[in-house]
Amino acid sequence: MKDCIFCRIARGDIPSSKVYETERVVAFDDINPMAPVHVIVIPKEHIATLMEITETEGGLMTEIVAAVQEAARLKGVDRTGFRVVVNCNEDGGQVIFHLHVHVLGGRKLQDELG
Ligand code: AMP
Ligand code: ZN
Repeated sequence: MKDCIFCRIARGDIPSSKVYETERVVAFDDINPMAPVHVIVIPKEHIATLMEITETEGGLMTEIVAAVQEAARLKGVDRTGFRVVVNCNEDGGQVIFHLHVHVLGGRKLQDELG
């Protein structure tokens, strides 16, 4: 997906404030943070939505969760707590159609799920 913004971030074609990276996933700061800590975790592979995740992804979600944990530790919210959000499709508020996990923390979150 040549023009997908998160594919371009994964390739390093456009800059991002990288928090953590492995062979298969990248975590970076959200450009429009909704909380003092707002990290986006993506697979490097282009997967459009949560609905496209299948068992053949071979543990990708486990790697994404490990990256969420590492990002939380690096940002210092692993003990204070954080919220993980995945928006899926239009009613879920998904704007970028490359699977991503929001990690929100650093303040007491209210009922902000929509
Ligand atoms: P969603 O509504 O779940 O699709 O969220 C997309 C998120 O990507 C939003 O929180 C945006 O602020 C964020 N975003 C968009 N472009 C960038 C970018 N270039 N770098 C970092 N975050 C971005
Ligand atoms: Zn993509």
